[in-house]
Amino acid sequence: MNKACFLDRDGVVIVEKDYLRDVSQVELETGAAEAIRQLKQHGYLVIVVSNQSGVARGYFSEEDVRAVNARIDALLAAEGTAVDDWFFCPHHPQGKIPAYTRQCDCRKPGTGMLLQAAQKHHIDLSASFMIGDKLSDVATGRAAGCAAAVLVRTGHGGTAELPTEDVPTAADIRAAVALLLAAPFRKKCRGTPNTNHPNAGS
Ligand SMILES: [Mg+2]
Ligand SMILES: [Zn+2]
Repeated sequence: MNKACFLDRDGVVIVEKDYLRDVSQVELETGAAEAIRQLKQHGYLVIVVSNQSGVARGYFSEEDVRAVNARIDALLAAEGTAVDDWFFCPHHPQGKIPAYTRQCDCRKPGTGMLLQAAQKHHIDLSASFMIGDKLSDVATGRAAGCAAAVLVRTGHGGTAELPTEDVPTAADIRAAVALLLAAPFRKKCRGTPNTNHPNAGS
């Protein structure tokens, strides 16, 4: 079984630009390439899971999303690293484009993208992490049975209300990875494994 770190895209890997569709606007977050390199050095698959409701809202197409992802790939390659896979949810319950307008399992905090990735890449979710800039990202990681989920203060995390419950936070993706890879933190997080998860032990 593999272990993975799931990353939200906008506000975590790249600077949040509000329904980004223009590839020329793609800008890596500070330390993103280094954070991804570190995760891979520690044996984690790096998988981006992104809500892209702009597709359902008619702001841009799936092809536009893929073009942005390809641009991120190119920027990371220039820094000598890469993510292992990309998943995005094009849906929204109140969209404008009928084909994408529905309640789905993949829109975070739904766990669909993580479960799909786990199946495709043989990932042990209980050994995996999630990093996001919204509390819904943290909720997604937890609901999927990840060992830990960290909220970064970049992107929407900069303006988000501080969580009332105990959610680990970090300044940015690089700080989040440092926290997640720190042995005492990992040990603490493994204290209460989610044995109810369908993938637990499989
Ligand atoms: Mg985000
Ligand atoms: Zn979806």
